[in-house]
Amino acid sequence: MPSKKEIDSINTTLEELVLISGLSGYENNVRSYLIKKLKTKSLKSTTDILGNLICTLKGDDNLPSVILFAHMDQIGFIVKKIEDNGFIRVERLGGIPEKAIASQDIVIVNNKNELIKGIIGNKSHHATLQDEKYTVTPIKNIYIDAGFKNKRDVIKSGINIGSPVTYAPYYKTLSNNNVCGSSIDDRAGCAVILDVASSLTKIKKRPTVHVVFSVQEEFNLRGILPVINSLKPDIAIQVDLTLTSDTPDMNNSSDILLGRGPCFSLFSFHGRGTLNGVIPHPSIVEIFEKAAKTKKINLQRSVASGILTDASYVQFANNGIATIDIGFPMRYSHSSREVCNLDDLINLKNLILGAIGKIDNKLKLIR
Ligand SMILES: [Zn+2]
Repeated sequence: MPSKKEIDSINTTLEELVLISGLSGYENNVRSYLIKKLKTKSLKSTTDILGNLICTLKGDDNLPSVILFAHMDQIGFIVKKIEDNGFIRVERLGGIPEKAIASQDIVIVNNKNELIKGIIGNKSHHATLQDEKYTVTPIKNIYIDAGFKNKRDVIKSGINIGSPVTYAPYYKTLSNNNVCGSSIDDRAGCAVILDVASSLTKIKKRPTVHVVFSVQEEFNLRGILPVINSLKPDIAIQVDLTLTSDTPDMNNSSDILLGRGPCFSLFSFHGRGTLNGVIPHPSIVEIFEKAAKTKKINLQRSVASGILTDASYVQFANNGIATIDIGFPMRYSHSSREVCNLDDLINLKNLILGAIGKIDNKLKLIR
């Protein structure tokens, strides 16, 4: 059972991370926060041209090296057109569901890195036609109302074509250590690997681990690739959400439950134009299973289609990388109110530490 101190600590970090707006390709503020946090733990980090943040913890060079990564970016929109009357049209950036957009609080980041508050307009109920009542407004008809009088007013505020937009940063705690936020995907993953990084410094016998906070996952699932090419790790552990099936709308899709422990994916596949997914490396599956047993952590097993992470592309880099997707259970993905559980996050951290501890000379990567 995670202690209250551990729960309070990850709750604070997660809240701070979720309250930062960081659209794909615009991760600056999230990265600055993480650099500061790493510094407080006496951990040095570097960044690359794309903006990936890398913290290398040197270990035994005779053991296969590991990259442990989670993405800093979040889904949102990008300003596409400013109407003469001051309303703002947007393009989607990432898989933002149109049915979750109406009436949302949003923020636009202006050219001074300030957050300009706005809302997504939703046609007045009293003027809604019969056939509009049960339909979702397509993105081309969606607009932001940020209170501006006209186009000049918008431009004067530092907003222009190309300005990033996200759900308004939001975080709250629910019962039973469940928390709700606007970017649990994947700031929860960032919070977990941040904790792993500081714990790893206390473990003497272990491989070199590159803890990486990556960019542009929600955009094209490939932001991590330059890091993989330059660091050439042997093993890749990717940390992101796993969908739960414990809400009334998700019945029977899997056995994954919120608050019942971390998850690992045995199969993921995305068919719509991508034809990719991950079948994890059996030796890495084995060390995670063993770590769960040793640490008495309930490890949930996931098989899902329609899901893709950048791990899918990582596995084929260089000479091939032994890859696995590890996750925390999460509800309501890509909505402005995603829900996860803090006990799951602590157990996930301990599971990862346990699995890394099991990497030794006997680990067979070449099949
Ligand atoms: Zn994600």
